[in-house]
Amino acid sequence: MRTTPSHLREYQQTLAREESELLHLLWNRDGIAIEKSADQMDEIQCASERDLAIRNVARESILLAGVRAALGRIQDGSFGTCIECERAINPKRLAAVPWATRCIACQEVADRDGRETTEPARDLLVHAA
Ligand SMILES: [Zn+2]
Repeated sequence: MRTTPSHLREYQQTLAREESELLHLLWNRDGIAIEKSADQMDEIQCASERDLAIRNVARESILLAGVRAALGRIQDGSFGTCIECERAINPKRLAAVPWATRCIACQEVADRDGRETTEPARDLLVHAA
């Protein structure tokens, strides 16, 4: 078994905690209501709440996948290396976004190109922390 350096263990703990928080969020969500209402305003309100709930589920699922991938990279020793340029990702960036797969420069290029990102805003975790 590979021994994990202590700084990696910290990231691992952070990621494992975020993983369980995300699972908690995903599992404990109230059912997504698909109710028909006689009142049209109610129905519009209901539809927009449903859209929001679906967007949140999608976002949390993407984040969960990113967190799990980062845990995998800790295991295989590639954690902290940019997947594009293979340079080390700034530790400050990893401290803020431990599931980052790219350095800031490469992430900016990826965002500009509109490529898929596994880095949604972290705000959804703030209230859970
Ligand atoms: Zn890079």
